[in-house]
Amino acid sequence: MACASYLQERGCSVKLFDKGRGPGGRMSTKRIAQDGREFRFDHGAQYFSARDEDFVRQLKAWEKAGVVARWPKDKPDAWVGTPGMNAPLKHMAGSLEISFSTRIVGIQRQGRAYALRTEQGALPQQFDSLAVAVPAEQATTLLGALDFGMARHAVSVSSTPCWTLMCAFAEPLSDLPESYRSDGVIAWAARNSAKPDRDAHECWVVQAGPAWSCAQLEMEAADIVPMLLEEFARALGAKLPPPLLATAHRWRFAFPNSANSGCLWDGDNRLGACGDWLTGATVEDAWLSGRQLARTMLREG
Ligand SMILES: Cc1cc2nc3c(=O)[nH]c(=O)nc-3n(C[C@H](O)[C@H](O)[C@H](O)COP(=O)(O)OP(=O)(O)OC[C@H]3O[C@@H](n4cnc5c(N)ncnc54)[C@H](O)[C@@H]3O)c2cc1C
Repeated sequence: MACASYLQERGCSVKLFDKGRGPGGRMSTKRIAQDGREFRFDHGAQYFSARDEDFVRQLKAWEKAGVVARWPKDKPDAWVGTPGMNAPLKHMAGSLEISFSTRIVGIQRQGRAYALRTEQGALPQQFDSLAVAVPAEQATTLLGALDFGMARHAVSVSSTPCWTLMCAFAEPLSDLPESYRSDGVIAWAARNSAKPDRDAHECWVVQAGPAWSCAQLEMEAADIVPMLLEEFARALGAKLPPPLLATAHRWRFAFPNSANSGCLWDGDNRLGACGDWLTGATVEDAWLSGRQLARTMLREG
């Protein structure tokens, strides 16, 4: 979306396709309805920071629009989306043409145009340029048949997984800190409801460390839940009451070991790639990579 909005603001006609049901990707907010109540969890990125001056400017614009706020409890320069982590993405999505729930399964070069195939079949439109903005492992699949060099670049990056537990309790777990991090089984835990502009439900997001997540990667979410609840209680030295709800999400490609090239662009074939894996492993890196690709596309024609 960072790439698309930059191009659109400069007069290009852009269309996006995302397999997700709404804007978010790894910066999603999950909503779970139960017993007439809705619980929300930032189950991917927890917060983000801004160092690059362009991203700082973007952050100020989002702040003015009321879709981000500081959350200095864990880190002085931490920001979160409000009322959910996905809020700045929803804000960007508002001015873009995006087809959600649309997984691209094939890309074909037809003369000077690109044709896309979804699980439902070929799309009627064709495109003169294409930017692939998905995690490296998924980019490898899409780019494989199109550009060997780019696919090789993507294949050189690997991502570590992250099992994430989302749980809600009837009463506040008042003896616990608002966030916890370690190098152990529980890498990070945060009281979601302590972030600014959240509702009052006592919701926690608990992320397992990379070694534990790798070892348990192919297990079922239902089996992960009791294991992570137990590890969470052990890590915080707490006796947890039975949760109102608890569920787990497997992020298979959570954190890439970055290729550090910013973005990829082949001007002859008008094909590019962007995403955090080309810059780092954070929200800011993803945004910067998208912007860099848009600038390169405009500069190199
Ligand atoms: C558990 C977890 C915790 C994190 N914590 C932090 C943090 O605290 N701070 C921070 O800055 N960063 C954090 N990150 C990293 C941050 O979320 C990512 O760096 C950033 O969101 C990556 O953005 P992206 O656009 O490059 O990729 P993504 O957000 O992965 O977006 C890729 C999009 O492509 C779509 N897609 C994939 N394949 C296809 C296809 N074939 N067809 C159509 N659509 C497709 C997906 O649905 C997705 O929306 C965390 C990530 C995870 C998973």
